[in-house]
Amino acid sequence: LDLRNEDLKELQELGQGNGGSVKKVEHVPTGKIMAKKIVLIDAKPSVRKQILRELQIMHDCHCDYIISFYGAFLSDPNICMCIEYMDKGSLDGIYKKIGPIDIDVVGKVALAVLEGLTYLYDVHRIIHRDIKPSNILANSKGQIKICDFGVSGELINSIADTFVGTSTYMSPERIQGAQYTVKSDVWSLGISLIELALGRFPFSEDDSDDSDLSDLEDFEGTLSPQRPGSLSGMPLPPARKKEKKPKNGETSKKDKRKSKGVSLQGSGMTMSILELLQHIVNEPAPRLTPEGRFPKEAEEFIDSCLFKDPEERVTPKELLKHSWIDRARTDTIDLEAWTSTF
Ligand code: ATP
Ligand code: MG
Repeated sequence: LDLRNEDLKELQELGQGNGGSVKKVEHVPTGKIMAKKIVLIDAKPSVRKQILRELQIMHDCHCDYIISFYGAFLSDPNICMCIEYMDKGSLDGIYKKIGPIDIDVVGKVALAVLEGLTYLYDVHRIIHRDIKPSNILANSKGQIKICDFGVSGELINSIADTFVGTSTYMSPERIQGAQYTVKSDVWSLGISLIELALGRFPFSEDDSDDSDLSDLEDFEGTLSPQRPGSLSGMPLPPARKKEKKPKNGETSKKDKRKSKGVSLQGSGMTMSILELLQHIVNEPAPRLTPEGRFPKEAEEFIDSCLFKDPEERVTPKELLKHSWIDRARTDTIDLEAWTSTF
């Protein structure tokens, strides 16, 4: 299929992320409905062509748990990727609409993500790098698939150079600068599953006692005037009492530079994010709480995703053998019926 921008009729805006936007489109010559992801890339033509070449690997990704790829093209100054349209959207949108997701459905999500990650790694040696609810999609057939994985090294580099990506699902070892491994994806999966089951981002007021955050004086140069209550719409730890005001508007620009690699949904959020990253590194990992509310197997599965030491954490492939995942596999819960409820 030779995709050209002229052949794509825009139908609807599906959402906006840090690096671009996603639109529902119709490929007019074939009538096929697709999602067109537009990524703004500030890179040389040679790099852009390289990215396009690297993206072609996605043509070889055939797995029920991975979004299908129809093609990519340059549309100055953007790179456009056409992928399978998932009519129920991403899981973050779903839980924000319907509230906490039933733990049995969460089990099916865990199974789908682990299958997808194992396929990507075993067949293509690809590490996802960005597991989070907004990159897990559902459709009305009851299928669950992952998208936005790191196929293109050049794209990862360019994005890192041009804007900052989300970091709050990042594992402690990644925050501390270690190499990405499949185990970092497992951490992100653990955080995402808690978020779905609780209906809120796990690092939030209720379970952060904030007592460790007193050495944040190191970062006072980057403090922001206002304490935004949310990052990507998610609650953050409570505000610090001792915030110092920056002198002027200049500060926010400087903040962005300083915190490269840290998500900023707008200026003035640097403090909250540093606080959060520090919390992830220094505090015990979040858990599926309150104890007893969820099946023991689910609690234990999440605990094993969230070992802070990557040596202790197991790979997606090993996690597929966990008893909670076994149970999810044989569970007869009807996901198609579930998706028809919203
Ligand atoms: P970030 O930029 O931080 O990774 P994100 O994942 O939300 O955040 P995008 O990947 O640009 O950002 O996606 C924006 C939104 O578009 C998603 O939250 C999702 O709801 C929607 N979306 C993405 N891909 C599809 C798709 N294939 N089908 C349907 N909706 C999609
Ligand atoms: Mg995404």
